[in-house]
Amino acid sequence: TGFFSKLRAGLKRTGSGLGQLFSGRQSIDADLLEELETHLLMADVGIEATTQIIDDLTARLKRNQINDPDSLRTALREDMLAILEPVAQPLVIPQQKQPFVILTVGINGAGKTTTIGKLAAKLKQDGHRVVLAAGDTFRAAAVEQLKVWGERTDIPVISQPTGSDSASVVFDSHQSAIARGADVLIADTAGRLHTQANLMDELRKIARVLGKQDENAPHEVLLVLDAGTGQNALAQAEQFSEAVNVSGFVLTKLDGTAKGGVIFAIAKRFGIPVRFIGIGEGVEDLRTFNAEAFVDALLD
Ligand code: GDP
Repeated sequence: TGFFSKLRAGLKRTGSGLGQLFSGRQSIDADLLEELETHLLMADVGIEATTQIIDDLTARLKRNQINDPDSLRTALREDMLAILEPVAQPLVIPQQKQPFVILTVGINGAGKTTTIGKLAAKLKQDGHRVVLAAGDTFRAAAVEQLKVWGERTDIPVISQPTGSDSASVVFDSHQSAIARGADVLIADTAGRLHTQANLMDELRKIARVLGKQDENAPHEVLLVLDAGTGQNALAQAEQFSEAVNVSGFVLTKLDGTAKGGVIFAIAKRFGIPVRFIGIGEGVEDLRTFNAEAFVDALLD
């Protein structure tokens, strides 16, 4: 399917031939684990997750539980799933009268607007009534881009002129969503302001303002990260989670990066659900994160 071919295109580079490590080998020679470790580190799996995997494989080898390349591959698959499965928790939108509010955060270029457009389309297709809030009032282009998605998917976008107060746009959008009987509000936010501190203050304020209309809002804070930025994505996750209560990750651009392994590093470090992955620019290219499908594409 499109899913596997697109994901594999990127992951082939990510694993730098992880699958090939095992094929065509008759036995496990001394170098194999070392080679595997190098592959994992190069794919940005990170020290912690790589160490966990290699230590476990080493222990299993010592106990003679692994005897050939095939059983090593099976054990590796299990170790990878053990890291990813706990965070493979899909976003579930409960039935409720108040709109379910999704606050979307992330730095410019991460794929935030595109993700919002794809997610809105997906939710609409599932029968939800969606309203979008153009909360990135800092960049005119961001509002325009969101409107294009809104037109394409026939979903209302609430906006104010560039330079307006972002929290006020989001507050208005929340009211508008309630008035329209919408059951999902997805709010865009700025990905860059004059300073990092400004941005984080603004995000805190938006979260606070949403809580005024519904004490449980935002119900989901989605942090969008470009997988291609590798370990840098970890630093962003640290910064954003200090400001707002990040409850889910979206990893974008997994179709075109050799650093897709960062998903293991993120899973290990934060233990926060990975809700979706982006595997292209099209409306159908946002997928619910599935640990098995991901690992199998990686080991293919
Ligand atoms: P924002 O600044 O965070 O709102 O980022 P955008 O949504 O504008 O995305 C930045 C660029 O990345 C755009 O050219 C998008 O089409 C592209 N993009 C977003 N997600 C993906 C993805 O999953 N795969 C690929 N290949 N490109 C993506």
